[in-house]
Amino acid sequence: GALGGPELGPQHRIRVCVRKRPLNPREAGLQDFDVVTVPCRGLVVVHEARQRLDLSRYLESQTFRFDHAFDESAPNELVYRHTAQPLVESIFRGGMATCFAYGQTGSGKTHTMVGDLSAKGQGCPKGIYTLAAQDVFCWLQEPSYKQLELQVYGAFFEIYGGKVYDLLNWRNRLKVLEDGKQQIQVVGLQEEEVSCVEDVMKLIEMGNRCRTSGQTSANTHSSRSHAIFQMILRKRGKLHGKFSLIDLAGNERGADTGSADRRTRLEGAEINKSLLALKECIRALGRNKAHTPFRASKLTQVLRDSFIGENSCTCMIATISPGMRSCEHTLNTLRYANRVK
Ligand code: ADP
Ligand code: MG
Repeated sequence: GALGGPELGPQHRIRVCVRKRPLNPREAGLQDFDVVTVPCRGLVVVHEARQRLDLSRYLESQTFRFDHAFDESAPNELVYRHTAQPLVESIFRGGMATCFAYGQTGSGKTHTMVGDLSAKGQGCPKGIYTLAAQDVFCWLQEPSYKQLELQVYGAFFEIYGGKVYDLLNWRNRLKVLEDGKQQIQVVGLQEEEVSCVEDVMKLIEMGNRCRTSGQTSANTHSSRSHAIFQMILRKRGKLHGKFSLIDLAGNERGADTGSADRRTRLEGAEINKSLLALKECIRALGRNKAHTPFRASKLTQVLRDSFIGENSCTCMIATISPGMRSCEHTLNTLRYANRVK
């Protein structure tokens, strides 16, 4: 099987986890309060309350069950251990792995995937991109994989408004082509050979700077784009395995479609379309469906290989905010995650 154990059934190719972040000082200052509890690993309860009450007097609650649920005390390393880490080895066996962070803007997707790259943070906490890269280089030293003489490459690109831009090449616009055999190619995508985790961290830093440069306010652009970081294994130039780690656009954009200007509405519609397509492709993977609707969006198109074949596995980390004011978005995120499994 892809993970080294007995052959994986399709239902084992998907893991869905939820991560709750702490209430932040800004929310506390606005008199917001925590309405989400994680009573045990795997369960998430959202308490619907109009005002701060003691837990026993919450009006109503909704419970969701996932493969794992992390409360606000969980560090990135713990989240990593139960989500992306079990998938790393599969790419050495020729597999295609993906890990998505899905959730509302401000819920912790970038914190989870990229970590803190600021000079102040000095690379801490590490994000899943870096933690996965560390393990890739560990597995590379394993004798049975070492003899394969694999090369490791990194690629980093984003999808914004349905268009693909290379984050390792000054947001060079890239074309996506499909050949007669349904193979998808992102033409001109820069792949950088990497030989240690520091190399990978440099790429992530460079790509992230590219992603956020020219942004007017903190979250505007990056909250509307999907960022896709890939670790690619090649054997004499030929593709061997691939791990795609994705910081998705904020899922709250549906709310924009009624109000904002035309461009914002179009972007929102594009994001909705891609997140819907993503859900359908993951569901198809989990059910061994013959038909995978990958053509429905650019996001699912460029990830086509990851949704097809017996060696594909994926994991979704749904990130949620704890506050009462985010309750509707939190419930939307949990419902989506529930549908994916
Ligand atoms: P998103 O990428 O989903 O928009 P961010 O990752 O940028 O959200 O998180 C928003 C803010 O909350 C950031 O300042 C981030 O450092 C903080 N944050 C997110 N998740 C956590 C967490 N689990 N623990 C501590 N701080 C967090
Ligand atoms: Mg972000």
